[in-house]
Amino acid sequence: MEKIFNLSDKIRFDCSPDLPCFTKCCGDVNIVLTPYDVIRMKNALGISSEDFLERYAIILYKEKKLLPMVLLKMREEDKRCPFITEDGCRIYADRPWACRMFPLESLRGKRYRLITNEEFCLGLKSDREWKLSHWIMTQGVNEYDYMNEDFFEILDGLKEIEKDIQDTNPKIQDMLFMSLYNIDKFRRFVNSTTFFQRFKVDRHKAKKIMESDIELFKFAIDWIKFWLFGKPTLKLRSKR
Ligand code: SF4
Ligand code: SF4
Repeated sequence: MEKIFNLSDKIRFDCSPDLPCFTKCCGDVNIVLTPYDVIRMKNALGISSEDFLERYAIILYKEKKLLPMVLLKMREEDKRCPFITEDGCRIYADRPWACRMFPLESLRGKRYRLITNEEFCLGLKSDREWKLSHWIMTQGVNEYDYMNEDFFEILDGLKEIEKDIQDTNPKIQDMLFMSLYNIDKFRRFVNSTTFFQRFKVDRHKAKKIMESDIELFKFAIDWIKFWLFGKPTLKLRSKR
């Protein structure tokens, strides 16, 4: 029977460049990206979110879904990740959440399961033993979990709306996608509209929002909750 791990369980694992399987796991794989993954990766590469999405993402819309699934695009010629080098991942410090979790997959309720085996991932044959919570911490996953929390809340909210829609409105789809995944385009959108005149955001906060991708992303989340779910996450200024 498949073993389900919780955070206090132990796991044997040690990934190393000396293993014959080194970087084998960075090819022919579906890596779903969250908005925070895109922010980290595009900044590591020094490119805009638009460039990143254009060059490195596959955007998959499904019928009656308001937000597409965003996948990391593998290279055409060999189906390997575009960021792999002989020495490993060239954006290792900013690799996406799914790469941090490998060889595990996260299930609901802080439970986990292995998504590969000792034949493929030789690191699982190691004698090095970790408490799962400690290993996850060393992978920098907690910061990603924190940033992804709001995004998953939006996905849950969208599921509720999607139950009742007959046809998806492309304008809503585009707006949602831009505000979550295309943060540099969203910045220009906020800058070119009357956002900060319509909503009560003090000047200091508005400056922070415009200067920081993270603050802008949090603002996008608040805006979506306000606009789509009717939550009091933003306050409108009174009309004079
Ligand atoms: S297959 Fe496992 S041990 Fe090998 S490089 Fe990938 S994570 Fe490391
Ligand atoms: S982002 Fe880095 S760790 Fe993830 S698949 Fe690509 S090369 Fe491997």
